[in-house]
Amino acid sequence: MIKRLIRRVLRLGKRSEPEVFSPAEHGIDRNRISYGARKVCEALAGHGHQAYVVGGAVRDLMLGVQPKDFDVATDATPEQVHKLIRRSRLIGRRFKLVHAVFNAEIVEVSTFRAVNVAIADDATGEGGRLVDAHGRLIRDNIYGNREQDAARRDFTINALYYDPASEAVLDYHQGVRDLKRRTLRIIGDPRARFREDPVRMLRAVRLAAKLDFQIAPKTRAPIGEMADLIRNVPPARVFDEMMKLLFSGHAAACLHRLRAEGLHHGLLPLLDVILEQPLGAKFVNLALAQTDQRIREDRPVSPAFLFAALLWHRVLAEWKAREAKRQGRIPALYEAMDDVLDRQTDALAIPRRLTTTMKEIWSLQPRFENRSGKRPFGLLEHPRLRAAYDFLVLRAESGEADRELAEWWRRFMEGTPEERADLLLPAPKGEAPRRRRRRRPKKRAPAGPPPTLAD
Ligand code: ATP
Ligand code: MG
Repeated sequence: MIKRLIRRVLRLGKRSEPEVFSPAEHGIDRNRISYGARKVCEALAGHGHQAYVVGGAVRDLMLGVQPKDFDVATDATPEQVHKLIRRSRLIGRRFKLVHAVFNAEIVEVSTFRAVNVAIADDATGEGGRLVDAHGRLIRDNIYGNREQDAARRDFTINALYYDPASEAVLDYHQGVRDLKRRTLRIIGDPRARFREDPVRMLRAVRLAAKLDFQIAPKTRAPIGEMADLIRNVPPARVFDEMMKLLFSGHAAACLHRLRAEGLHHGLLPLLDVILEQPLGAKFVNLALAQTDQRIREDRPVSPAFLFAALLWHRVLAEWKAREAKRQGRIPALYEAMDDVLDRQTDALAIPRRLTTTMKEIWSLQPRFENRSGKRPFGLLEHPRLRAAYDFLVLRAESGEADRELAEWWRRFMEGTPEERADLLLPAPKGEAPRRRRRRRPKKRAPAGPPPTLAD
C-alpha cells in the first residue's frame, strides 16, 4: 500500500508530456467554439496565461455534438481571471471559480488544480485538501499545473484540452483513443476515484447513456459494490446530479443503466418495486419517453411531474393497501402519499417545492372521477389542473386509468359552457342520501374535525 503510494507520488514528480492532436486529427472546427469561450481564452493568453477549452465541450465537439456550455481551464488564479475579464464574477462553491458573462452565455473559468493524492492519510485537511471518514473529498482547492488538472478530472474523454489559438488538442490520458472506441474510462484507480467522489458513478451512467458509450470493464466493475457510498454525499448535490440525469434528454436510457448498475438503490429504491409490475413499468417508461421527447424538442418539462410519475405506482399500492383495511378512500390516499415521500426522502431528498406539487398532482387524480354536479367545475379552477390532467392521460395510456375518462376531461376542459353542461353525468345512485347522513352529526357538533375530503 505504502509502496504504491510512494510510486504514485514519484510518478507525479516526473512530468509527462501530452499527446498533441492537430485539427486534421481531432476534427474540431474552431468556429464552433462559442464566442465567450474564445474571448476568455484570447484575454488570458494576451496576458501570458495558458487558457484552454476543456471538459464536456471538447468531448462533444469531437463527437460532432453541439456542447451545452463551454468551460475554460487556465493557470491564472480566479482573482487574476476576474481582474482580466470585465464582465465576470467570482463564485465559490466547493472551490473558487469565475463566471465570465457574455449576454446569455456564461463561461465557467477554473484554475488548474492539483491531482488527488494520498487521500486517506490527509484527513486533517492540511494543504487545502479535506476528506471525510469514507475518503470522500470535501475540499479541493490546491492549484496545480495543466497535467495535474488533467489527472484530477473524472474520465479520460473529459480531460482533453483545446487551445483555440493553436487549434491543438492536448491529451494526457488517451482520451482521444477512448473517444474513438466509444469507451468511458475513469482516470486512475476506479475505486479510489469513486470513493473520493461517489457522484462520479452517477456521471458515468449519465455520460454513457447520453453518448451511447460503453463503460470500460475496470471502471464499471466496482460500481455495484460501491453504490451505497452515494448515501454519504450531501443530498442537495445528489439531487442536482439526479436532475441532470433525468433531464438530459436520455432519461429512459439513464434510468435503465442506473438500475443495471444497482445505483438506484441509493436514489430511487422504490423503482425496483415499481418496475416489477407490468403496469408500473409501462407507466414509468411512458413518462420517461415523454420527458426525453420534450427535452429534445426544447419544450418545458416539470421535475415535479416526472417525480410524481416515478413514484405513482408505489402510491397506488400503498393507497390500495390502506383502503383494504377499510380506511376512507381520500384519507388513505393522503397517508399513502406521505408514506411514500417519507421513505423516498431517506434516499434522495426531493425538495419541498417539488413534493408540494407532486401531492397536488396525485391528490387530484380521484377528483377526476367526479363527473356530475358542481364538482367538475370546481376542478376547472385548480391551478394544477393541466399537470394533473396530463398525468391522467399518461395513466390512461398505460392502461391503469380509463381512456374514456381522460377523453371526457379533454372535452370538458375545452368545451363551451353549453357543451360542459351536456357532458355532465347524472349523480351516481346513493350519493344524495349518503351526504345527508354525513352532514347531520356535524350540525349537532360544529366543533368536530374538518372534512378530509379533497374537495
Ligand atoms: P455535460 O456538461 O455534458 O453534462 P460535462 O463533462 O461537461 O458534461 P460538467 O459537470 O460540465 O460535465 O463538468 C465539466 C468537467 O469538469 C468535466 O468534463 C470533467 O472534466 C470535470 N468534472 C466534473 N465533475 C467532476 C467530478 N465529479 N470529478 C472529477 N472531474 C469532474
Ligand atoms: Mg459541461
